[in-house]
Formats: sequence, structure tokens, C-alpha cells
Amino acid sequence: MNQTTKIINQAKKEGRTALLESEAKTICAEYGISVNKFDIATNKNEAVAQAEKIGYPIVLKIVSPDIIHKSDAGGVKVNLKNATDVEAAFKTIMDNAKKYKADAKIVGVIVQEMAPQGTEVIIGAIKDPQFGQTLMFGLGGIFVELLKDVNFRIAPITVQDAKEMITQLKAFPLLNGYRGAKPADIDALTKILCNVSKMILDNPEIKELDLNPVMSYPNGAKAVDARIILE
Ligand code: ADP
Ligand code: MG
Repeated sequence: MNQTTKIINQAKKEGRTALLESEAKTICAEYGISVNKFDIATNKNEAVAQAEKIGYPIVLKIVSPDIIHKSDAGGVKVNLKNATDVEAAFKTIMDNAKKYKADAKIVGVIVQEMAPQGTEVIIGAIKDPQFGQTLMFGLGGIFVELLKDVNFRIAPITVQDAKEMITQLKAFPLLNGYRGAKPADIDALTKILCNVSKMILDNPEIKELDLNPVMSYPNGAKAVDARIILE
């Protein structure tokens, strides 16, 4: 059995509909979507050991089935540069999680490679009651939230569909070498969209998927956050 099916079955068995970031990223990796290196730590010493293995700078985030929006819970610490930073962040994240939701079940923290800053884009999928599995592409931040500059296509999508979802955004110039910046790797983003399309069709239990953000670079693209909700 593949990892994806194993993870989905395990969540179902435990009565969970929200997969952990680590689980969602393992599924992404199985579908050829690049994610940053990560590991799970359940205590401070483990977190430091894993950080040293992955290499600084490091990002630490809360891992809890009861906390879906990690930043809202004070559960994300970026740019940790050494063991002291990691220890302090571990403590702060745990304290914040307890304050946010006293009875939250805490698995630990996810220790991950800090991806260099790129242009942040959002790739998503949602099961529309009318149209079925639908893919979404947009630029991060205000472009999605305020300007609703996003494109949708019903799955399955072709490479051409995926390209159009990207290039037909109003904000596309921002990805295409705006003000002398190097253009984003459109082929890499296209590939992620097509891989997500395959993932959601293979696994109809997936009700929602959010890669927010995907860091997009002149060469490649990487999902630094992944959320999957099951039916
Ligand atoms: P949330 O559950 O709040 O969406 P995220 O995992 O998206 O949590 O983290 C919040 C923000 O932190 C992201 O939008 C991104 O800008 C930054 N971030 C998270 N993980 C990484 C990483 N591995 N490398 C670089 N930046 C990251
Ligand atoms: Mg996010």
C-alpha cells in the first residue's frame, strides 16, 4: 500500500478529518511535489538534534490535530539560527498552544528547513458540491484575500489548463519578471497543479487541499505549508 493510502486510512481510523502538516507533506512528496525537509520532535532536545541535522536556519511549527491555522495560535517561528533559538521557540510555541486552546492535543513540533524567500503563491483544491474536484491558483496575501485574483479549473486538468490558470491571473506580471526581477519557474508551478489534480482524483476522500504558501523561484517551487482536509 502506498504512503498516501496509509495516512488517509490511519486518520480515518482515528476519526480525524484534518491531516497534520507532516502527513500532508508526505502525501505531496509521494505525488512529486517538492516540500522542504522536515521531522517531528516531541521535546526540546529532539528539536535541537533535528535542527542540527537539517541545518540552520530552521522553522518550528506546532503539530496538533486541534490547531489548523498555526500562525493564529502563535505556533510558527521562522529564521531560528542556532540551538538557543530553537529551544526558546519550542517553549514559546508550546506555551502559545496551551493559551490558544487549553485542551488541544499536542503531537509536538515540526522542525523544518527554512526555504529562501520566493514569490508566495497558493495552490488549492476543493470539492465543489456542483462541479466536483476543483483546482485553484492564486498569488499569496492580498491578491487572494482582498482582490480575489484566483483562477479555478475542474479536475482533471491538462498542462495547458494549468498554464492558463497561472498566466491568466491579473497579477501574473508579478510572476513574470516584474521590475527586473527574474521570472518565476512557470513549468514548476504547472507541474504542481497537475500533480495535485492527479492526487485529488486518485483520492476522492480529499475534500480540501491547501498549499499556502508555495515558494516560487526562478528555478523550481516548493510547498512550505500543506493542509489536507478529508471528508
Ligand atoms: P499557517 O498554518 O498559519 O498557514 P504556515 O506554515 O503557512 O502556517 O506558516 C506561516 C508563514 O510562515 C508562511 O506563510 C510562510 O511565509 C512562513 N513559513 C512557514 N514555513 C516556512 C518554511 N519552511 N520556510 C520559509 N518560510 C516559512
Ligand atoms: Mg499556511
